[in-house]
Amino acid sequence: MPSLPTYQLLKSEHAARRGTFTTVHGTVQTPAFMNVATAGAIKGGLSAYDLGKIGTQVMLCNTYHLHLRPGDTVVAQMGGLHKFTRWNGPILTDSGGFQVFSLAKLRQITEEGVTFASHLDGHRIFMGPEQSMQIQANLGSTIAMAFDECVENPAQHEYSAASCARTTRWLARCKAEMARLKAEGKTQNPDQLLFGINQGCTFPDLRIEHMKQIADMNLDGYAIGGLAVGEPAEVMYDIISQVEPYMPKDKIRYLMGVGTPGNILESVWRGVDLFDCVMPSRNARHGHLNTWGGIINIKNAKYETDPLPIDPQCDCPVCRRYNRAYLRHLFKAEEILGMRLAVMHNLWFYNHLMERIRKELDAGTFEQFHDAYVKRLDTRI
Ligand SMILES: [Zn+2]
Repeated sequence: MPSLPTYQLLKSEHAARRGTFTTVHGTVQTPAFMNVATAGAIKGGLSAYDLGKIGTQVMLCNTYHLHLRPGDTVVAQMGGLHKFTRWNGPILTDSGGFQVFSLAKLRQITEEGVTFASHLDGHRIFMGPEQSMQIQANLGSTIAMAFDECVENPAQHEYSAASCARTTRWLARCKAEMARLKAEGKTQNPDQLLFGINQGCTFPDLRIEHMKQIADMNLDGYAIGGLAVGEPAEVMYDIISQVEPYMPKDKIRYLMGVGTPGNILESVWRGVDLFDCVMPSRNARHGHLNTWGGIINIKNAKYETDPLPIDPQCDCPVCRRYNRAYLRHLFKAEEILGMRLAVMHNLWFYNHLMERIRKELDAGTFEQFHDAYVKRLDTRI
């Protein structure tokens, strides 16, 4: 019997991969899009029960937010995130690093970790690799992410190189701490997985060198971090293409924080298996809705008496029941239901875009699908 987890490559086309990823909380069909539930809930009022109805495979929660509120020890007392949120499928928690570097104020970085002020009330918090692993052990996620330094783009080569070296040292500490927590029974999930994160800003030499180092550490999966933070999309695609040959073929690959449907098609083409992004839910809350013909703004006057669903090709619970005129009215009247229905549609769209990608890969027709849709899906209509 092979031990969990197992990434199994079923089929490939160019660098694109169709596979499965087996975890203690279920098997994920890849490529897949993880739905972001920052503080244990999808912003826009969707519950774990709703996620079960819209094709969600993996829920993603943010360590930083849950550490501040309600506190990871509270979640541990309630039996971990699965029992707390009632989501039974795989959960990925980020390390908290990205939020520490993007949200928190007055941070100070040392070899030990980062001291920062909470964005909620300003109190001082220290987080390093060990603390991040302890918090994620309390949360009991299926997949824990390594604690890394997120360097702002553009950055100097010298600083980036030093940061990559520190991120590698922190990764070794994450691995050791997770092993200790499991050995001492101090985790809500004794089968928790650990993914390492590739860094190196937009410098291909640093990216490749760092990827080689972390590939040697035999982790459960590998992420590419520090992209989609303001650099042009073409730069991001180039980095993925350059790093991909050095990513282990038998491990799952995750591109953090990406992106638009077009970004996802381009990245799948370059060999990425997992994605996450706040974009579909955030856009939905502003009335920007994904369709197979492009992006519509449901608040436009032209939808005032439109009897069609958001997307006539969509089979989601919203499009099966409601028309554009009603959705527009809900937004104009600022009814909470408008946001909820819009988020439900957009996440369904992303989850089913991934299903379509998997079907095209199964059929060996992903390239034609990519060419037909890569521009269209990101066009505002
Ligand atoms: Zn729909």
